[in-house]
Amino acid sequence: MEQVQTAPLLLFPCPGCNSQLHFSPKLQQLECEHCGTKVAIDKATDLIRENNLKQQFAGATDPTVTVEQLVYKCNRCGSQSVFTTETPTFTCSFCNYEAVNPVAYKTRIIQPSGMIPFMVDRQQSLAIFKTWLGKGWWAPGDLQQFARHDALHGIYLPFWTYDAQTNSNWSGYGGRHYYETEYYTDSQGNRQSKQVQKTEWIYRSGTYDHFFDDVLIGGATELSQNEYESIFPYQLQELVNFDAKYLSGWQADVYDIAVNDGYEKAEAIMKDAIYESCADLCRIDTYRNLEVDTSYSNQTYKHILLPLWICTYAYKSKTYHFLINGQTGKIHGKKPVSTAKVVLTILVVLLIIIAIVFFTQGQ
Ligand SMILES: [Zn+2]
Ligand SMILES: [Zn+2]
Repeated sequence: MEQVQTAPLLLFPCPGCNSQLHFSPKLQQLECEHCGTKVAIDKATDLIRENNLKQQFAGATDPTVTVEQLVYKCNRCGSQSVFTTETPTFTCSFCNYEAVNPVAYKTRIIQPSGMIPFMVDRQQSLAIFKTWLGKGWWAPGDLQQFARHDALHGIYLPFWTYDAQTNSNWSGYGGRHYYETEYYTDSQGNRQSKQVQKTEWIYRSGTYDHFFDDVLIGGATELSQNEYESIFPYQLQELVNFDAKYLSGWQADVYDIAVNDGYEKAEAIMKDAIYESCADLCRIDTYRNLEVDTSYSNQTYKHILLPLWICTYAYKSKTYHFLINGQTGKIHGKKPVSTAKVVLTILVVLLIIIAIVFFTQGQ
């Protein structure tokens, strides 16, 4: 990969004063922060199309789907982003590393076909973040200082969506419970009876066909699939054509999970879902020895960008992420637990127990 000097990547100068326009979630259009000029963005959906995955596997990618892109790679954590503001410093969303005059490299990536523009703006996300920080007895009192408000970044994250037709043959044993009365003699020599559960196993088999639509896989390794799923769902019916104007003034991450690796993750998710559905078909009261044989066909993929607010902060050398779905405002976050507060609580509970024992025995 070729190293090149940075230049502002995406410039949309204001027609009024020539300064950089920013995409405003509130207005859903470009806005100039200096003179207030607003510029509308055409919303279209005609470019959001499914791409054939088999062609992609065969290396026969439609050249119109890929694009040459300047990408910054974080010196500390390796996350890769397209940066779309003129400022000469770049603060990484995932590790808060601040790079001055960062160096970008040129790479060819699959062009996103669709995206969901930010709906939650900075003010709203800060309010959500502050409310979340203030909640919870177990969190350390100094957490506010560590989770700095300026570390909250709005970033477009790369996702893959996969479709597939699946046809499965399944076989196994469905179990039906029934009860038998068993007699026994107890220790006093009396004859007793009890109900015992038995299971009758019945061989069953069948087919299960299912079409999966838009299985969503995170394309950047900085977050785990579980973290992505914690802020799902995104309302994908609101996808619009990819348009660089929506990125103006925002960060956008570049995928580092290739389209075929993403598909493996998607197929594992489909496989689990198919197994659950076949188990439901096989089960009477219970089931066992379930075998499922699935063929996958007509697989397609799309590359899309979805909006996310993220705050990465370290507390006692552990990294925590706080996430807000940039479309719906749904949040996910884990807070560190204050050891002092835990110890204090245990002591208080112990004192109460001792007091109760003391008073009850004293009577
Ligand atoms: Zn202006
Ligand atoms: Zn970083």
